[in-house]
Amino acid sequence: MRPPLSFCRTPLALLLALLLAVPGYAAAQADVPGAPYRDGRFQNRYLEFEPKGLATLLQWKLQAALLGLPPAPQQPTPQVPPDLAFIHVNASAGAAMQPAITWIGHATALVQMGGTNLLTDPIFSERAAPFAGLGPKRAQPPGLSLAQLPHIDLVLISHNHYDHLDLPSVVALNAQGGGPPLFVVPLGLKAWMAEAGIGNVVELDWWRSHRLGAVEIVLTPVQHWSARGLNDRMQTLWGGFAAFAPDLHLYVSGDTGYSPDFIDTHRHFQQRQHGGGGFDLALIAIGSYEPRWFMSEQHVNPAESVRIHRDLRAKRSIGVHWGTFELTDEALDEPPRALAEARRQAGLDEAEFAVLPVGGTLRLPRRDAAARAASGSAAPAPQSPAAALR
Ligand code: ZN
Ligand code: ZN
Repeated sequence: MRPPLSFCRTPLALLLALLLAVPGYAAAQADVPGAPYRDGRFQNRYLEFEPKGLATLLQWKLQAALLGLPPAPQQPTPQVPPDLAFIHVNASAGAAMQPAITWIGHATALVQMGGTNLLTDPIFSERAAPFAGLGPKRAQPPGLSLAQLPHIDLVLISHNHYDHLDLPSVVALNAQGGGPPLFVVPLGLKAWMAEAGIGNVVELDWWRSHRLGAVEIVLTPVQHWSARGLNDRMQTLWGGFAAFAPDLHLYVSGDTGYSPDFIDTHRHFQQRQHGGGGFDLALIAIGSYEPRWFMSEQHVNPAESVRIHRDLRAKRSIGVHWGTFELTDEALDEPPRALAEARRQAGLDEAEFAVLPVGGTLRLPRRDAAARAASGSAAPAPQSPAAALR
């Protein structure tokens, strides 16, 4: 027998009130709370994350050894020579830049947007590890070498794990000809950068932003953790990034488990995307997910990456964080196959959420040109250098 309506309504109203009180839902305001921070450690919003201890780590590694995991890949990660002519003409095109992303490998990508050349989580080293000669070795050279890069204006660091914050790479970028880039890092990493001799650094809390030229960068919450040693666990923050320029709205997931943070992120930015839909491009991690009992809180599998793509209302996503360093139990070439299956199950076209070959460039339509076309204005889109090259 159903309870009387008046009995139902109170808990329902309470539930609604609670939902609305979750941080991020009130998001258009500038005073949204940043990352939870207690006793010197940052924490996730939807999970009290405790990094796994040594015994659990050994249990995983022993199990993997017994099962012969990860399996050898069936094929090498596809790699193409980079389109250096396009990348370099585009790099200095200023306001006529065509939005484009070039996958360099793992979570490293060159994104050209808003007249700016930006790099995500740059790692160009042979290994992702604290000590030279140790740790997982990369399966192929970077899609662009440090020497092949255009002048980099902006470097986004999602967190301090070795495969995302590589000391030799950030030191080399800081010493690039023409002056150092601006490094945007999560809270707590400015001191580490200073120790590395890098001073051009902006530190952000979740939902806080910084503008460089035409690009506004916001650090966004994701579900992960941080550490470079045994004694600094969760002492510096982690995050994803939203980057807004007139020609492209970009999202970068960094490393993350699945959580409601992505629905929150979409809601947070819904107003500023004013009818233009969600992000034009999302770079979403699709690798490092097996075994699930160990990884699911900190790394999504491709089915969850597809959920993130949908939560964000991304128009297009590219799967990154795969095919480069063997970090977990799935084969190096499994993530794109699992992504294809997840796409099929979700009824997505390949164009909506694909992968690039290492070194491959995806050119994107300008968001502002599309908005002008949609509103019927006759203002022509700026001639792109890419069009000039074709
Ligand atoms: Zn990580
Ligand atoms: Zn990672």
